[in-house]
Amino acid sequence: MFTLPDLPYDFNALEPYIDARTMEIHHGKHHQAYIDNLNKALEKAPALQGKTLEEIVGDLDSAPEEVRTVIRNHGGGHYNHSLFWKIMSASGSSQPSGVLLDRINSSFGSFDTFKEKYAQAAITRFGSGWGWLSVDSSGGLVVHSTPNQDTPLMEGLKPILGIDVWEHAYYLLYQNRRPEYVENFWNVINWEQVAENLKAAS
Ligand code: MN
Repeated sequence: MFTLPDLPYDFNALEPYIDARTMEIHHGKHHQAYIDNLNKALEKAPALQGKTLEEIVGDLDSAPEEVRTVIRNHGGGHYNHSLFWKIMSASGSSQPSGVLLDRINSSFGSFDTFKEKYAQAAITRFGSGWGWLSVDSSGGLVVHSTPNQDTPLMEGLKPILGIDVWEHAYYLLYQNRRPEYVENFWNVINWEQVAENLKAAS
């Protein structure tokens, strides 16, 4: 049985960029619902019980067909949100440093070019989904997006930074202004955690 991970900060910690009410509903209601539905689906998939979340969402073919779509949506939702809470922080530094910055510069030319590509991926994802910075199978960094709650693990990629662009992530504060939400996201990124994720994925 999967359980809701605690937020590593208070609901209001990311204000004024992400409001406390949004964080409270997003974490306590939306994320909890993904976990509840995943757990319910796993009751019908005894062979998957005891596997890690990464193993489950990274190998959807092994899920029984009758619950495969539920596991894709809700297992993906649990994985994506668990990463999302951790890569944000009130004390987020304004820029990555060290190996992470070197890798971003060598992959995209500059940090600013990376930011443009990342924002573009997040803003142009039609409907609901996620924008990502992921590590591919040869160790390279890639910017991409996924629809719905699909997670990069389903494409053989390891995500190290993600932004939720479902309306539930920003609508109370930004309404239809997704680009403004994406622009403000840079203020709340926990680059130390992203660097940790890169190390773990490499
Ligand atoms: Mn969400």
